[in-house]
This record gives sequence, structure tokens and C-alpha cells, in this order.
Amino acid sequence: MKYLVKLVFLFSFILVACSSQPPATAAPTQRIVSSATNTPLPTATITPTDTPAPIPTQTLEESTPVKPSVFLISWDGGRADMVYDWMAAGQLPNFANLAANGVRAEYAITVDPSLTASAHNSISTGSYPNRTGIVSNAFHNPNDSFYWYRQGFFEPLDDAEPVWATASRAGLTSAALFFPGGSPSFPAQTADYTIGYGVRDAYSRQVKVQMAPFEDDWAGSAPETFSPPYQGSFVIPEVARVHVYLYDPTDDGVPNHDAVLLNIERRFEPDIPAVHAGQWSPLHLVKSTSSGADFLVQNIDLERAVPEVTLFHSAVYHNTAAPRELLEELNDKFGFFPAGADSYALEHGWITDEDYLTMLERASAWMAEVSAWVYTTYQPDLLMTWQNNFDSAGHVWFLNNERQPNYSPELAARYADYYAQAAVAADRALDIMLDVIDLEQTTLIMVSDHGMAPVHTTVYVNTVLEWAGLLRLDNRNYIDVDRSRAFAVVSGGAVHVYINLLDHERDGFVSPEAYSGVQAQIVDALVSLTDPDTGELVFQRVFRQDELSFINLDHPNAGDVFAQVNPGYVLDGWRGKNRIFEPANYYGQHGYDSALPEMHGLFIAAGAGVPRTGEVIPPISVVDYAPTIAQILGFEPAPTVDGTPILALIKHE
Ligand SMILES: [Zn+2]
Repeated sequence: MKYLVKLVFLFSFILVACSSQPPATAAPTQRIVSSATNTPLPTATITPTDTPAPIPTQTLEESTPVKPSVFLISWDGGRADMVYDWMAAGQLPNFANLAANGVRAEYAITVDPSLTASAHNSISTGSYPNRTGIVSNAFHNPNDSFYWYRQGFFEPLDDAEPVWATASRAGLTSAALFFPGGSPSFPAQTADYTIGYGVRDAYSRQVKVQMAPFEDDWAGSAPETFSPPYQGSFVIPEVARVHVYLYDPTDDGVPNHDAVLLNIERRFEPDIPAVHAGQWSPLHLVKSTSSGADFLVQNIDLERAVPEVTLFHSAVYHNTAAPRELLEELNDKFGFFPAGADSYALEHGWITDEDYLTMLERASAWMAEVSAWVYTTYQPDLLMTWQNNFDSAGHVWFLNNERQPNYSPELAARYADYYAQAAVAADRALDIMLDVIDLEQTTLIMVSDHGMAPVHTTVYVNTVLEWAGLLRLDNRNYIDVDRSRAFAVVSGGAVHVYINLLDHERDGFVSPEAYSGVQAQIVDALVSLTDPDTGELVFQRVFRQDELSFINLDHPNAGDVFAQVNPGYVLDGWRGKNRIFEPANYYGQHGYDSALPEMHGLFIAAGAGVPRTGEVIPPISVVDYAPTIAQILGFEPAPTVDGTPILALIKHE
């Protein structure tokens, strides 16, 4: 099995430095030594030709009937036109081969708001947010304090069921891997095999470790050093103390300390490799939970009075999965959940764009390997998995126009190249999964939850409410819940505004008689907001609660006013800013009107039951996937499903 070989490389996740003396601050040039990056162009499972391959003849033994199965991959943030362009340009050979030997949709229409949590819960259930109740990435619940909001990723569904749960009830075996809404914490939403998004134990950080002469107090036998070694340590709060051993492994007559050993037990362990400046290394930090992080040795400075090693560590994560045996196998075979591309660290200048791409590639390959392993090991009838390449790349590198801060043609070209490299990593992840998928037996469905649009301006929408006299802050800029009539919770290009209504909100005081007046005031403040630079309207559309059925968002969680800005603007819910507008501090966002071409997602299907025509089918909706899967696998969809089966995938059965 090819993927097991790749696994070995994944475990020895180490980068090669370009030199032993990297610059202190500049980006070290680095390459991952793993088959994932070093293999030549991935070999496609389907013949790369426009001529449809011959229909496979039935050669299986009578005793092993073909069992239909569905493998669905959600490519988060995969914008239809961009992905299709990369395919046409030859950069995504596996994507292109599947489309050429299957079907693709012109585009897929996502839900409103076009956000990860709302869209994924609609993908998995076939129901709109007015049923799922997952109306956004973040929303307020009236049972909480007025200033509080909840994450859509960690809230249970209201009146909808994930298709993996429906399949399981129908007697089939299902798997939901990393899929938003699939969590071992919600029994009604688990598949037979569920792996959640990893649980974070600590944030990422850059640390400068002061080194001192080694005191020879580590257990085990030290590696050979040709100059006196150093030691130091630092604490990741509530996780572990990490010990650092710095030595000189080269017998060249020069004291060049360029190798670092990281350890949590002050023990020399032969299987933990030395790390050099510019290299990454994974390290397990908590045995009981199998928590761990990836460490990047950024600089080794011996010129200072006190020698110093600069390290960056990713956020610390551990796996979450059910049943228990799956979790144990996962920890054992694959180690901790990798943190993925870290925009927080990039924003703080702790990592470079190259490092960000490396983290993205590492998470992508890891999740693909795990998905391939679950598929072969447990042979589910339905597997749904998730990949974040396009989204992670789009948020930080979607620089393509002069209105965006720091725009230059050179920087735009550099970022476009990173964005494309993230896409290429998606194609490599697909290759890993295609290695184990038998397309004669399995229908492969590839989707995305939303697109991506470039942004130039941040809009502090709670300042809008504050200046309209609707929101009151105390001297610490906390919300004064006794005097605030409205509060905004934002996600990307969308905002939910909640009114502090008496007998509805926990802290409510706005009388029912005053409600519509407050609501009108909010609508007016948003509708009339114009960009001081251009005079253009900031909001594309503003809805009162009673108008939200128009976009299938009529659910109490959605608030009293819901609005979406025009692409280019991005909302921020931070309070206490004495301004409304500011240049955006990142480059891509979503959450906008789902009808906009920028928000359209991709759809590609191939394999069992799919015509091998390379046909482009008319636009479809993300709520159509769940009923399509039910039809392919032969079970009744949940009664709460809003979508309809996609004809191109079922009529040729
Ligand atoms: Zn997303």
C-alpha cells in the first residue's frame, strides 16, 4: 500500500535547511522532505484523456457483490472559477482527470451566509440554516449574557440530521472525518467512525530560549558533540516544559552549534532526530492525551552574551474521535492533530509565508492519509472528509487589486504563487486519497462550502451601533448590558444584530413596543453606511428578521437584523474602536451573498454511477448533496432534507 510508505515520511516531518547559518530574520528557504512534495506529478487513478475510458467490465467474483459507496471531500473555500482555472492550466491534474472522466457543475450555490459552519452543516444535512440552526460561524443565544456569542462549529443541530447519521440508521457504515458538524461530542451527529477537528490545548507562540552550559543531567546517552553543549527550557502553559539541548555534531574543528534536540523529559532518545535551524519537527507533549505540536527552529545565536535559540511552536492539539478504538488507533498510527496554517502566527510575524504554506501542506497531507486509512481499514459505505487548503490560502494571499493595502504587482504575483501552491497541495492530498479509492465501486463527490473574495477594508460594525446610540460600553470597552439595546456578532462578510428584548434576552430590557423602532434604527444605520473614500454603500443587503425566509435564514439564532456587506469589505465585531473603517489586515473573505459568483463553490463527481462524459452540468445547490448520497446508497433521506438529488449522478445507475 503506497500510502503506508508515505506515512513513514509524514512521521519524519523534517525540513532541510539551506545552510547551517540562516539569517536571523529573513525567511529560511526550506523544503519538506516527504514524498508528498518530492514525487513528480501525481499519477492519476483515472486515465488523463478526454476520451472516456471504457466502461469497466464486471470481473468480480459472484461471491463478492459490488457494494456501492460514496467518498465525499469538501474543499473548504474552493471557489468554482478559480479551481476550474487551475485545472484548465494543468496545475491540478487529479482534479482535472476526475472532471474529464466524470461530471462537474458550472458551480454550486451555497447557503447564506456563505460561511464554513453554516454551509458545512447544510452540506451534511441537506437542510438550510433555518432548519439546522447553524446560521453562521458565530451567533448569539438569548439564554446567554447579551455580550456572549457561540461558535457555530460547536453547537448542535436544531431540526436536521447529517446524512452520515441517516445512513447509519439505515444499517450502513458511515464515517465523518474532520467535517464541521461531525463531532464525538454530539451523539446525534456522530457517524459510526467520527474524527472531529482536533482539540486545542495551547496557542502557537514564538519563544527565545536562553541557553546555559549543559549540566549533564539528562538521562540516556547524548549524541556526539564536538564543542561543549548547551541546555535551556521553556514552558508551554498548562501543557509541558520543553527542554532544549544544543550541540555541535560536525567534526570540523569549528565550534558550530547547529543541532537542537527537543524533549519533555530531559532524556536523550535515539528516535527523536536532531533539528537544525530552518527545520520543523513534531513533538509529543502530553502522553495521556497524545497532545503535540510542530516545532520550528528559527535561529541559533551564539554571538550573544547568553546564547539563544529562537523557536516557533504551532498550536498544541490532540485528536478527538469515536469510538474509543478509532481514537487509540489514530493516536498510535498518526500522532497528534496538526495545527494547520496559522494566520495568527503569520499576522504576528512569528512565521513566514513559506512556513504558513508548510503548515498548510502538513495538515492537508495528514488529513488525506488519515482519510485513506479509515477508508481502507473500516470500509465505510459513506465517508465524508474535509480539506482546508483553498480557504487557508485565500484568507491570507488573495491580493489582486490596487484597493487592497500594500498592493503591488510584485507582491500580488508572489501571493498568487503561494495561493496556487496551496491548490497544488490540495491536488496532492487528492492523490493520496485516490490511491485507495476504487472508482468502479465508489462514487467520489468533491464539493466546497463557499468561494472567496479579495478584501480591502475592515468595518467595525459595533462602532456603527455605538455611534447610533444603540450600544453602550463601559470604561473597559465591555458591553453595558443594562443600557445596550443592540449588539452585533459578525462572521466574515455577514453580521447578525440582536436586540436586547425584554422577556426574550436573559438581560433584556427593550420593551416589545419599542422593538420595531430599535430594529428600524439598526436597519437604517447599516443601510446608510457609506465608505468615506468612495461614497459607495458598504452593505449589499439588510434584512429584518421577518424577511429572512427569503434566504432560508429565518431562525431565532439569526437575530433581529441580518446583513451582508459588499465584497471588498470585511466586518469586525471588536468593540471600543473609535472608528468604523480601517484598511483590512488580511486579504480574502467570504460570508457574502451566496448568489455572487465569488461565493460559488465547486462540484466534481466521478466513479461508480457517474457518466464518464466530462459534462458540465447546470448549477446545483449544496443542500442537494445529502439527498443525492441517500439515493446512490439506497436509503430514505431524512424528512428534514430541503434539497433534491442531482440527476446527473443518479439517472445512469
Ligand atoms: Zn469554509
